[in-house]
Amino acid sequence: MTTVPTTSHVHRTAAIISQGDEIVLGQTLDTNSRWLSARLLDAGVLPIEHVSLPDDRDAIAAAFRRLGERVDLIICSGGLGPTADDLTRFALLDVVGGTMVEDQPSLAAIRAYFESRGRVMNDLNRVQAMRPDGAVMIPNPHGTAPGLCASLPGGSELFCLPGPPREMMPMFEQHVRPRLRLEPGRAVATRSLHTIGLGESEIAARLTIAGDMMARTRNPSVGTTASQSIVSVRMRYEGPSDAAAAALDADEAAVRALLGSAVFASGEQSLAGAILDHLRAVGQTLSVAESCTGGLLGSLLTDVPGSSDAFIAGWLTYSNQAKRRDLGVPAALFSESGHTAAPGAVSAEVASALAEGARRVAGSTFALSITGIAGPGGAVPGKPVGTVFIGLAGEGCPTKVRRFAMSGDRATVRDWSARAALAMLWFQLVGDATTTLLREVQLDGTPFAIK
Ligand code: ATP
Repeated sequence: MTTVPTTSHVHRTAAIISQGDEIVLGQTLDTNSRWLSARLLDAGVLPIEHVSLPDDRDAIAAAFRRLGERVDLIICSGGLGPTADDLTRFALLDVVGGTMVEDQPSLAAIRAYFESRGRVMNDLNRVQAMRPDGAVMIPNPHGTAPGLCASLPGGSELFCLPGPPREMMPMFEQHVRPRLRLEPGRAVATRSLHTIGLGESEIAARLTIAGDMMARTRNPSVGTTASQSIVSVRMRYEGPSDAAAAALDADEAAVRALLGSAVFASGEQSLAGAILDHLRAVGQTLSVAESCTGGLLGSLLTDVPGSSDAFIAGWLTYSNQAKRRDLGVPAALFSESGHTAAPGAVSAEVASALAEGARRVAGSTFALSITGIAGPGGAVPGKPVGTVFIGLAGEGCPTKVRRFAMSGDRATVRDWSARAALAMLWFQLVGDATTTLLREVQLDGTPFAIK
């Protein structure tokens, strides 16, 4: 490979382009931009724009020109394949000028790639060895599409990488990251803390109590993102590198003090992961009994590698018969028993019996249970769609049940229910009996008074 042309200036800011009709039409989720942004930030380069473009040569060239004036670094993924809709290299030629040449080392590498798999290179693939004469190739050990690197007229540096993440990611790590030119002594550093049980506005209110931590001009800047009942607090520092750790440590301590036991993890850890770590550390175990969530809670727990250290068993007791047979829920609790006062399958009593049954049969320290009406049908008087009871049985402590009034479609009700069960256990483990959870109502269905 020839030497990558280098511009003199440092890479302070970056833009990320995801290219392809399937991205713009929403048929492929653009995970490349998310991944690249995190890697760039981690390396100290600030992404300031994401762009998605269709397979349109003029649109790609226009974006290269515009962003070439705006940022120091552009990373484009996609559009380097062998077919007529793969136009990135031609758009690059339109912008940098010169002529298209066939890069012999790349052609040999593509041939060798096919031969190593017992196949003969198709003539169509020759185009993947083409580059504008002012650009250089970046090797792709995991596919046929080499990348391209060029300096744009505006002064920024452009890296074009193939779309498939399994090819793009190692090329970024091996060939782009080592070429990032950082401003000496300067850093962009981030940290995130994840919370459960508090709404985004409650968190914002607490973060403004002692001086406005969320002021737009503050450094580190502090922002929140809510996703599926979890609110994350993100901190971003930009400035002299030797002050980065202390600035983020101070902010992390302040956020933890303001949000207390609602903070369950930092970085990449999930709520299920934090719970399992906690259980494992003290030699405790967990089992679950699910109805309307259909295994979602067990799935969240077993998503965590090594979960078997603390997660023992789960029951998906969907029918009333299964609830009775597998976990010993008393028949008298169900409406079909003929008892006029039977609370029914979606009730605090059944949630409690399910949790106790799961704990007894599994022999675990704790057991969670979920029974509810996910909808769209199934509502009964006094129990609308979204009514969910979650039980928590624990060794040496009384069984607790919380009631929730979830809103949204079937998938949302199920998802929130599984996470509410985890939240309930989290607050039990950290000894916080006072926090009312999101969407929680009193056991008779009436809302709690606003705090
Ligand atoms: P190749 O022809 O070798 O597949 P390419 O550079 O032409 O490489 P594309 O054709 O644009 O890449 O994309 C190939 C596949 O890679 C897509 O169908 C999609 O599965 C995945 N992909 C592309 N862009 C992205 C993206 N931004 N995020 C996640 N996946 C992507």
